Amino acid sequence: MKTFSRRSFALMAGAAAGTALARPNLAFGASARVVVVGGGFGGATAARYLKRLDKQLNVTLIEANKQFVTCPFSNLVLGGLRTMDNITHGYDGLAKGGVRVIHATVQGIDPGARRLSLSTGNPVLYDKLVLSPGIDLNYGGLPGYSQAAAERLPHAWKAGPQTMLLKRQLEAMPDGGTFIMVCPDNPYRCPPGPYERASMIAHYFTTKKPKSKIMLLDAKESFSKQGLFQEGWQAVYGRMIEWLPGKAGGKVTEVDAKSMTVKTEFGDHKGAVINVIPPQTAGEVARAAGFATPAGWCAVDFTTFQSKVDPNVYIVGDAAIAGAMPKSGFSANSQAKVAALAIVAALNGGKSEAPAFANTCYSLIAPKYGISVANVYRVTDKGLVAAPGGGVSPSNAPAQVRSQEATYAEGWYESITHDMFG
Ligand SMILES: Cc1cc2nc3c(=O)[nH]c(=O)nc-3n(C[C@H](O)[C@H](O)[C@H](O)COP(=O)(O)OP(=O)(O)OC[C@H]3O[C@@H](n4cnc5c(N)ncnc54)[C@H](O)[C@@H]3O)c2cc1C
Repeated sequence: MKTFSRRSFALMAGAAAGTALARPNLAFGASARVVVVGGGFGGATAARYLKRLDKQLNVTLIEANKQFVTCPFSNLVLGGLRTMDNITHGYDGLAKGGVRVIHATVQGIDPGARRLSLSTGNPVLYDKLVLSPGIDLNYGGLPGYSQAAAERLPHAWKAGPQTMLLKRQLEAMPDGGTFIMVCPDNPYRCPPGPYERASMIAHYFTTKKPKSKIMLLDAKESFSKQGLFQEGWQAVYGRMIEWLPGKAGGKVTEVDAKSMTVKTEFGDHKGAVINVIPPQTAGEVARAAGFATPAGWCAVDFTTFQSKVDPNVYIVGDAAIAGAMPKSGFSANSQAKVAALAIVAALNGGKSEAPAFANTCYSLIAPKYGISVANVYRVTDKGLVAAPGGGVSPSNAPAQVRSQEATYAEGWYESITHDMFG
């Protein structure tokens, strides 16, 4: 029997809300073309739910890659708990559900003509467009870092070859070496992700290279689930992980791939393996079309996730500025359902209801040691804010609670990937 986590429950609740709010397809819907760009957490969910909400809709998903490798659980690959195969998903389920799937890169958007230009050369027209292109790495945001440098100092912040590169480097590292991670300032994809990664690498070191050390150089002064992470690190890994906040020497000013050196305001550090997580922006396709603010992220209406720039365009997932919601796969999934409902309502001449969004982020500190943060978000006059009642797992909890949360994390992964691709 499957274990239902808080996350999977919220997923089902979201799906049920979607069904309940579905409206009968009216004349316009029969020919309406809704195109979704990006087949990750936001895009795959949007495409699937649009088609579920209105079978007559002509839904096309455009995704650059034939398979999607999830960032969620990619840290577990580094820890040796999962394989790349375990976190790789195909698009057959979406195609079977009636979504037309095109594997191509969208090279440009003409909002006036409502036309997309594709790497395949065949343009695609839309009535409504959903963008969920995820992030771009802002290589220029950190002196010394570049796409070429990332071949020596991997970011592994988009799962796939970069994850494997980092894993191979860790495997080749001598016991007793120092692994350095450069952690970015907010906002960035997956606030607890760097700290789960440090935990999983500590697990790997404990089992294979126990003399090794982990140094986290952080641009921030604090981080997501900090108390729980630090409690877990001390309990499971002793002094293996050292975290330096920005003001205590964590702020990295430059990296040098050649000498494997990280420079900070307080001095230089040499690493045997260096993982640089650079600053980020919304995916290029959204920025190039003029949908982003100067800061590089896309402003949206919180009730619909409609772009503030173009009412025919809906932007979900990491690319969007989503108030208090973190940039997570679960957030993207929740926002995509709200956008799908809003599009179907708009095409049928209706209005969107006041939505509720959900997010839970599980992190594994060790194979049987899970922690989480869970919130429901609502639109208020203060923006998109966390509703009262959410929060993080208890501190100083018994081992059984931590072990249960690790099981819930598995349940969450199975249910959300099934929701998107199953
Ligand atoms: C190490 C790590 C661990 C994480 N763990 C978790 C977790 O446990 N839980 C959680 O909820 N979240 C987690 N996340 C965050 C999660 O991965 C992202 O928030 C989520 O992927 C965002 O979804 P998205 O749809 O915005 O982007 P993505 O899922 O990245 O999807 C974007 C898709 O768009 C495609 N694309 C982009 N541009 C184009 C174009 N021009 N043409 C065609 N296709 C294009 C890309 O190929 C990609 O498939 C983690 C992230 C990292 C890095």
